Amino acid sequence: MHIKNAQSIVVIGAGPAGMMAAGTAGSRGNEVFLAEKNLLPGRKLLLTGNGRCNFTHTGSLDDLVANVITNGKFLYNAFAAFSNRDTIRFFRERGLSEITEPDGRIFPSSGRALDVLNTLQGYCRANGVKILTAQVTGIKTVGGRVSGVLLSNGKEMECGSVVLASGGMSYPKTGSTGDGYGMAKELGHAIIEPAPALVPIEVVGNLPLQLKGVSLSGIGVKAFGKNNRKIYQGFGDIIFTHYGISGPAILSASSYLTHTGAQGNRIVLDMFPEFADMQMDALLREFMGNAPAKSAETAFTKLRLPSRFMDILMKTAGIAIGRKACEVTKEERKQMALFLKNFEMRIKSLRPIEEAMVTSGGVSVEEINPRTMESRIVKGLFFAGEVMDVDANTGGYNLQIAFSTGRAAGSNVH
Ligand SMILES: Cc1cc2nc3c(=O)[nH]c(=O)nc-3n(C[C@H](O)[C@H](O)[C@H](O)COP(=O)(O)OP(=O)(O)OC[C@H]3O[C@@H](n4cnc5c(N)ncnc54)[C@H](O)[C@@H]3O)c2cc1C
Repeated sequence: MHIKNAQSIVVIGAGPAGMMAAGTAGSRGNEVFLAEKNLLPGRKLLLTGNGRCNFTHTGSLDDLVANVITNGKFLYNAFAAFSNRDTIRFFRERGLSEITEPDGRIFPSSGRALDVLNTLQGYCRANGVKILTAQVTGIKTVGGRVSGVLLSNGKEMECGSVVLASGGMSYPKTGSTGDGYGMAKELGHAIIEPAPALVPIEVVGNLPLQLKGVSLSGIGVKAFGKNNRKIYQGFGDIIFTHYGISGPAILSASSYLTHTGAQGNRIVLDMFPEFADMQMDALLREFMGNAPAKSAETAFTKLRLPSRFMDILMKTAGIAIGRKACEVTKEERKQMALFLKNFEMRIKSLRPIEEAMVTSGGVSVEEINPRTMESRIVKGLFFAGEVMDVDANTGGYNLQIAFSTGRAAGSNVH
């Protein structure tokens, strides 16, 4: 069958970026088809923020840009035109109120990602967007301009323009399987090798297995590359897993390691980033001095760290469990302070892209107009969301990218 709609717009992918683009294009009086290969839109969106959907973050325009790890400058115009404040207003106007957590992350006050999805779907419906359950396999052009799309059922659809919003490659079960890269490449766009970002880290040795399930909150995390170069420094929560480490602070660190060849690099944890090394030692001396006849581990409970973690630290420092605090030597105490400030692990690898929260890499932004999201190679081809070579920190920034770029594409598609 040959569907004829030469002036219409096809948006490929009903994730947050595609739904924002489609609704916006529809609100301008265009005929818009939103093609989604899953039976239901927004499968990944439902997983976000552990089902609560951290949909944006507080802060200025500069803060938004600073939290983009790859190609923040490219996003400046899109953020300026549709910022975190606009996102909040967009949802409020459609009946979805928000709560802001102390660290600036913003969630729907209902605590349900489904409400964010329903709002976006309602926005599409209100603006006449027609949802097609279809997988797009290619984009056709005539004379350097989009002329239609090909569907996996063999059908062809004529259209005047396309917004490619097919997402990245992480969590492929949600439908984001990297389809957009092939389509963009066929039309001459460069693809930056997709790699996992915001992903757990595997470390060398059996330490993680011994510490599996132990979590540490509010600690310092540093990552060092070849020649001891500091690649990342951050702060937050971590958890040990059977293969290594995960948790928000580790996911953030991973995004800075993704293109550096993570293997052999080091992750260093600092349990007390607020203290200098000397202060740490003084604190241990004080705790042990206050309870000299008690066991060292009893004295150390004042540190409020998980006992399983402390046992390993003590063992590594050569302090046997049960030993009296007054019997611990100065060297052993100093060693203990050193471990508390510099708990070092060597990286084996990042976990695979299937486990990554976002994909780093994708369609190169060099050939995309940052104001309109239109391709500089093919007229009538626009991009939105994670399919592009953009990725950001955890905290709601990735969804803000989807909304801002979706809005830009939907406002300019013609
Ligand atoms: C577990 C998890 C938790 C996350 N939590 C957060 C969070 O709290 N806050 C945050 O900011 N970010 C979070 N993210 C990241 C965020 O979900 C993504 O950055 C965002 O969904 C990207 O939006 P998108 O619209 O570009 O792509 P996607 O959401 O990936 O949507 C793309 C859509 O396109 C469809 N599609 C693909 N190919 C085709 C095709 N050929 N034809 C038709 N349809 C196609 C897919 O089925 C999919 O529905 C999380 C990610 C994960 C995996």
